[in-house]
Amino acid sequence: MKQSQLFVPTLKEAPKDAEVKSHKLMARAGLIKQTAAGIYTYLPLGHRVIRNIETIIREEHDRRGCSELLMPALQPRDLWEESGRWGQYGPELMRLKDRKERDFCLGPTHEEVITAVVRDYIQSYKKLPLALYQIQTKFRDEMRPRFGLMRGREFIMKDLYTFSESRGDLDQWYQTMKEAYTTIFKRCGLETKIVSSDTGQIGGDTADEFMVMSEVGEDTITYCDQCDYAANQEFSGLSAGNACPMCEGTIQVAKGIEVGNIFKLGTKYSESMNAYFTDRDGNRQPVIMGCYGLGISRTLMAAVEQHSTDEGLVWPKALTPFLVHLVPVKMTADNEDAILSLYNTLSKTCTVLLDDRDERAGVKFKDADLIGLPYRVVIGKDFVTGQVELTDRTTGETKLVHVDTLPTHLIP
Ligand code: ATP
Ligand code: MG
Repeated sequence: MKQSQLFVPTLKEAPKDAEVKSHKLMARAGLIKQTAAGIYTYLPLGHRVIRNIETIIREEHDRRGCSELLMPALQPRDLWEESGRWGQYGPELMRLKDRKERDFCLGPTHEEVITAVVRDYIQSYKKLPLALYQIQTKFRDEMRPRFGLMRGREFIMKDLYTFSESRGDLDQWYQTMKEAYTTIFKRCGLETKIVSSDTGQIGGDTADEFMVMSEVGEDTITYCDQCDYAANQEFSGLSAGNACPMCEGTIQVAKGIEVGNIFKLGTKYSESMNAYFTDRDGNRQPVIMGCYGLGISRTLMAAVEQHSTDEGLVWPKALTPFLVHLVPVKMTADNEDAILSLYNTLSKTCTVLLDDRDERAGVKFKDADLIGLPYRVVIGKDFVTGQVELTDRTTGETKLVHVDTLPTHLIP
């Protein structure tokens, strides 16, 4: 794309309320703009990254037999009365009335809706298992929205629900999705720790969280220095220096950002909402459910927190909005055709952002530093002999390269 046509409102100063590095950079690099407290617009660059994360999620879900649907954000009170959560869910639930004074909420999660969608269909074990997911905007009136996309009142989540005829089948889905989540986060350039957690508001008996270890995280993780025991401190009650409950090791403590949370729900929703099926022996049973949430906008925030310096981003290739930043020091009538021809050639094999703006070189370089695409190609004085300056953002290495061989250096 040509930068003159793309809306990238970079800022010299971060907004005053931005406390953490990722929030400052995302605002300054023109990825997001706040609309109200905890409510953000994803600007074109930020939106491209969201789409990349979503593509990775779709690939890893579809190949494991999950199918995508899209449920309504607006949910009637009746369904929440059936599960008993209309009364239980506190002020975080965004409630509203329609013109006939009927109660609705904006979905913070979708156990009620999905159970109502499938309950008439799953009359027999022959219709099971089912694994259905969506990518959707969620609403929670958080007490303390903060750190940009980390804790929003409106945010993007992927939520998957599984329906099984047996505990064993649920256990298999749970294991499969644990592996899927680890793969998804790894592909997004994030190492995660799997941490046992409380089941909280959602209910059920087993839950695990996926944590990105980071000083700005709001969760405290207790983990063993010897085995792979790890649990949220809210759940384990352990402190640094305690003995590990699983081995001879010692407990360590660190902060983490929760990017995903998976639950074995069991029959909480199927019993209360009457989702029963006839099993292989002809008996009526409540279907056994699992739910699996992944915070997409929070994953974006965590990725920026991990892959940046104070000066700007350093995008992992799987997430980057464009692979190459083509930056002519000056575009003139003499070199314009050659620059556009190089841009067109490169665009055939990778995503390219051409800074064709009528700006000083200093301004262009500063913006390029901030936006942080993996490869920067500066078109300067050596362009007359066919050479450009290629910088690998990750290593910081810069070299002169001939335009004919340039594509071979640009590894997606
Ligand atoms: P938290 O403990 O951080 O409030 P949660 O346990 O209530 O989160 P879940 O219901 O498990 O969240 O939601 C699934 C995922 O959605 C979380 O793991 C997180 O990545 C993301 N998420 C939850 N709340 C928010 C929020 N307010 N803003 C952005 N992402 C969120
Ligand atoms: Mg959670």
